[in-house]
Amino acid sequence: MLYRRRQPQSGYGDGGYGQPPRRRRGISGALLIALVLGGISVFKYCSNQQENPITGEMQHVSITPDQEVALGLQSAPQMMQQHGGLYPDQRLQDHVKAVGNRLVRNSVSKRSDYTFDFHLLRDDRVVNAFALPGGQVFITAALYERLENEDQLAGVLGHEVGHVIHRHGAERIAKMELTQGLTGAAVVAAGDYSTAQAAQMIGNVINMKYGRDQELESDDWGVRIMIEAGYNPLELIGVMDILEQASGGGNGQPEFMSSHPSPENRRDEIKRAVEKYRSQVTQ
Ligand SMILES: [Zn+2]
Repeated sequence: MLYRRRQPQSGYGDGGYGQPPRRRRGISGALLIALVLGGISVFKYCSNQQENPITGEMQHVSITPDQEVALGLQSAPQMMQQHGGLYPDQRLQDHVKAVGNRLVRNSVSKRSDYTFDFHLLRDDRVVNAFALPGGQVFITAALYERLENEDQLAGVLGHEVGHVIHRHGAERIAKMELTQGLTGAAVVAAGDYSTAQAAQMIGNVINMKYGRDQELESDDWGVRIMIEAGYNPLELIGVMDILEQASGGGNGQPEFMSSHPSPENRRDEIKRAVEKYRSQVTQ
């Protein structure tokens, strides 16, 4: 097959053995293609601007909210599997759902089209919480059992709801498409989750690390909806203490903290957000 393909000499590159001019043209041709493709992805990234319907900010995202929901639902089973499945005690499972739903229903978050669902994971070693695009939210048993009160649980879930509302997953996917040439949007749009690329996509989504700004935005959102839903937002600071302690035990940092600004900085920002939103609510 290889030999036969050489005969027509029609394309770029591989027919050029022993023919320097042709070969040089091959390289510059490949370079040109790379430049064009790179240009297209940069152009695509820059032109894919959408206004967030809830926060009003302009964002670089390449998938629709419906596609976020689909991707989240597709990825949820693998997320559960990675953390030992769901926690078997339905009473505690219901507790997590009740607090999450109270946060969403009594706050500005309810204006979104996402269908939120909150899950308690069985994992009793990894102290962490996660949000998938589109509204699937998780907390591990290891974090859940360290919390001292319901307000702290609301703080954790509120922060994760913030990642969903701010569409941080979709922003990450758009960046991945730019830097890795991943055709994420195409895969999601096609709804074809059987391909290797879709598997890679789900892997990326599950192990997604958010950036510092995204974490601060989510803290801010958490504070806001805690106040709106009648929880004590200062308890989110208690969550920071718990996470910091958990990370000091030689087990490494919880992922919840890994890409974050320093806990000091985060506590200050939370206090500032509490003052900001409390004054808005009481007026
Ligand atoms: Zn976070």
